[in-house]
Amino acid sequence: MARTVLVLGDQLDRRTGALKDAVPGTDRVVMVESFAKLAERPWHHHKLTYLLSAMRHFAAELRDEGFDVTYRREPTLRDGLAGFDPAELVVMAPSRYDLRPRLERWGIEQVPNDAYIAGEAWFARWAAGRRTLLLEHFYREVRAEHGWLMDGSEPVGGRWNYDQENRRPAPRDARGVLASAPWRPTEDDIDAATRRDVAAYERDLDLELYGEETPRHFPVTRAEALASLRHFVDHKLDDFGPLQDVILDDDPILYHSMLSAPLNLGLLHPVEVCDAVDAHWREGRGPPNSHEGFLRQVCGWREYVWGLYWQRMPGWRDDNALGQHGAVPEFFWTGETDMNCVGSSHRDLGHYAWANHIQRLMVFGNYGLIAGVDPLELAGWFHSMFIDGYDWVMVPNVMGMSQWADGGVMATKPYAATARYVNRMTDYCGPCVYEPKTRTEDDSCPFNALYWDFLDRNRAALKGNYRMARVLSQLERFPAEELAAVRARAAPFRARPADRS
Ligand SMILES: Cc1cc2nc3c(=O)[nH]c(=O)nc-3n(C[C@H](O)[C@H](O)[C@H](O)COP(=O)(O)OP(=O)(O)OC[C@H]3O[C@@H](n4cnc5c(N)ncnc54)[C@H](O)[C@@H]3O)c2cc1C
Ligand code: SF4
Repeated sequence: MARTVLVLGDQLDRRTGALKDAVPGTDRVVMVESFAKLAERPWHHHKLTYLLSAMRHFAAELRDEGFDVTYRREPTLRDGLAGFDPAELVVMAPSRYDLRPRLERWGIEQVPNDAYIAGEAWFARWAAGRRTLLLEHFYREVRAEHGWLMDGSEPVGGRWNYDQENRRPAPRDARGVLASAPWRPTEDDIDAATRRDVAAYERDLDLELYGEETPRHFPVTRAEALASLRHFVDHKLDDFGPLQDVILDDDPILYHSMLSAPLNLGLLHPVEVCDAVDAHWREGRGPPNSHEGFLRQVCGWREYVWGLYWQRMPGWRDDNALGQHGAVPEFFWTGETDMNCVGSSHRDLGHYAWANHIQRLMVFGNYGLIAGVDPLELAGWFHSMFIDGYDWVMVPNVMGMSQWADGGVMATKPYAATARYVNRMTDYCGPCVYEPKTRTEDDSCPFNALYWDFLDRNRAALKGNYRMARVLSQLERFPAEELAAVRARAAPFRARPADRS
């Protein structure tokens, strides 16, 4: 029976789900730009333009292949499906938890989501009966099963983990490590039309858009995505490992791949990314630590958060282990702050709708955590502003790893830090108006007072956590006047109560 394949915005892959077996000329395709989705939240300009451009490019490619593609712009997804018999519609199970029951209610068949390396079923089997779901165990099993950087049943070089060689601090002289330019696309007519339509949407739907309106940075077609993967493997992969946690003001991208955006849209499959890394190493090109460090991100962390999302939803979005209820600070939207680390990271975010992992975790995430921002609200901000932000990846990373809202599922202790971490891993502190080494002076770095203020407010919640025992006992020894000075210095930087009207 001929079918109509519903292709959602993050399912732009001919080789997965229901599209895998679809036949041009026989099966049809429907795609929908939903106004309700566009108006659901504020957006980074570049993110919105990128997503719509990628969808439109995909529709055009399917047409070129001979498919009859209905591409609609309608008030809701449901409106976009009007006239189609639900019994004929088929879709790959969405990546977003709450969409699956909706599609089920509408009577649309969902086929398993095979856009990941270890699917939900694989993860569930792996997790069954385990007391703890450690990333390291998961990563090793996935890697071994696929033979990536494996020599038979052993990891190449006899080691699974090269964290010691990787994760170096920021070098004193940055000039020697600045990377070559990232891959860049050339825009076409579809991009131009999408820009015009986004401007019209902004006006007609009263959209709130943030960030710069820059030329496109990320791939929107399969050919572009493959070119950007090739560029990374050829020019950046070898140096990825040692500098993966470093941030340099002059070069926020450094050796990062910027592949999360095309990966999360389906333009690249994670298996082919890992295959490319493995092949590059086997050709004898490059050190194992960088290859291992990168594989760990893709077949380890990325797959782990996908699996964990499906294990822990729907409850994960409601977690707030530390009872934090503050609003996202205004400067997270505007970038107007004199904290150099936040301001510079925001400049990068404004330009690319992207920031590297440490900017996300140790600058924005850390500030949100120690200033007392509501974790779900912070996840909403990430969703709006980051080009690769989707529910399945933000709930674990923002609410779990960065805000500790799950009380320790993703991270054994909160990623709370003073300026010391930023000062070690970045070159932000030197030119900053704040002093990173003091706590309660008028020019002391806000992160320092906020950190101790955070521990003070959360003593009870963190008391049983053995990894926090040392700092909590240090806090116990603070004289009363020091604690009062910490609270006073932190107060103006604490998150304001969220407006719940
Ligand atoms: C607070 C916070 C929020 C984040 N939000 C997102 C998000 O919305 N979308 C997103 O894809 N990633 C998110 N991440 C994970 C990670 O920071 C980004 O995947 C990465 O920075 C993207 O840049 P890149 O492609 O250059 O990554 P690289 O440094 O080159 O890493 C390679 C790839 O590994 C994968 N990866 C690495 N770590 C993770 C992780 N923890 N979770 C999922 N994938 C991972 C990504 O696909 C990435 O492209 C978040 C991390 C934190 C701490
Ligand atoms: S001193 Fe503090 S605010 Fe300034 S860059 Fe360093 S960590 Fe950021």
